[in-house]
Amino acid sequence: MSKKWLYGCLGILLFAIAVFIPQGKAHAMHDIPAKYKTEINYLVERGIVKGYPSGDFVPNDEVTREQAATMVGRALGLNGNKRNTVFPGVDADSFASGYIQSAYEQGIITGYPDGTFKPKESMTRGEMAYLISKAFSLSRQSPVSYKDVESAGSQYEAINKVTTAGIANGYSDGTFKPEKTITRTEFSLLVARGLNDDFKVSQEGDTIEERVVTAGVLNVRSGPSTSYSRVGQITRGTTVKVHHVDGEWLRISTGNLNGYVHSDYTASTVSGNRSIAIDAGHGGADGGAQFNGLVEKEINLNVSKRIRGYLENAGVEVIMTRDDDTFIPLDDRNAYAVNHGADAFVSIHSNAFSDPSANGTETYYSSQSQRVTDSKQLATFIQNRLYKAIDTKDRGVKDVPYRVIRSTPIPSTLVELGFTTNASDASKLGSSYWRDRAAKAISEGIIDYFEWKES
Ligand SMILES: [Zn+2]
Repeated sequence: MSKKWLYGCLGILLFAIAVFIPQGKAHAMHDIPAKYKTEINYLVERGIVKGYPSGDFVPNDEVTREQAATMVGRALGLNGNKRNTVFPGVDADSFASGYIQSAYEQGIITGYPDGTFKPKESMTRGEMAYLISKAFSLSRQSPVSYKDVESAGSQYEAINKVTTAGIANGYSDGTFKPEKTITRTEFSLLVARGLNDDFKVSQEGDTIEERVVTAGVLNVRSGPSTSYSRVGQITRGTTVKVHHVDGEWLRISTGNLNGYVHSDYTASTVSGNRSIAIDAGHGGADGGAQFNGLVEKEINLNVSKRIRGYLENAGVEVIMTRDDDTFIPLDDRNAYAVNHGADAFVSIHSNAFSDPSANGTETYYSSQSQRVTDSKQLATFIQNRLYKAIDTKDRGVKDVPYRVIRSTPIPSTLVELGFTTNASDASKLGSSYWRDRAAKAISEGIIDYFEWKES
């Protein structure tokens, strides 16, 4: 709590009592955030928001509970005459006492269970939700929920009401952060939205991002689980706007359709927001091919980590199905990638054959995949970079229904770097120089793919 603000407020209040100014005419504050000028000036013009004596708004100062009560009291036109309150810790001479008592009488504030109000404490977002829902008599609720607000908790109803009313919204990670304090800017926005529908966050809310449907047919539901009724269906390739993330579910809109879809069946479309899963084949008890002193699981992991380094430097998010010597069942590998929002999946392997003369590099996709075109394209970009970079025989791009790349909702490929059973290939697979060249080439092929997708 800033003493400066307290005295400033007192000064302005005394001045306003002495000289009655209908519009609460305050001088223009020059530090009001440009993005919210309309809303905040709406409150300034009505004498609901008053700046510091310096003429500043100080947008990022935390709002205390007595300041919040004062702003709400002014917004509702409550009696702000200073007087005794029911709360023992509130000084009758404080600038906020009248508004606190009036708000109490109206049932807008109740104080803490111990009978105190704690006027100098910062207001939290959860407390704000309660205050705002009471102040503006909000009653409507909807199936919105936040990861960090329990439906059985005491703040759930208030937070739901302020969200449903379009007054407050959560964060893009699906949280509401009820314990977080609230700034002067944030609180001003809520009061402005409570007073004027024009400022409300639309029912859809802000668009967090656009995503594209990856499943053949995707159900849109009225709430964030399969127990909610189906309100529509959308097909592969449909672009949707994401307004809210609720665990694994996304509240989306497309055309006139609004509802929830499971995030697994969508992928990012945003340029620069690229994510790829790198799957180092084998691991743990499953060593893979073992010839010429090589252990396949070790080659695959080493090259995969190098790919991660190159891609992260290029700004691509990399999801590793394993980054140590762990066994992961085949079915879990692609599922892990999908559940972590990967746009595509690349599995890294090293080949083996009974005839040691067999040699070269090949990359697979599966025509059984739900994403045949993209998978084949990704495989082609990788193959064309890889065999040239490590100077191996080009065995081409092949359609083989390996388990980790077939029937998955994201484009998926499997790379065979070279043959552990062939002397020439094996010497490269054991060499950190060639491993690095392979990793760089694969990362470039992946970036070729992203650029092709975005073009
Ligand atoms: Zn393998």
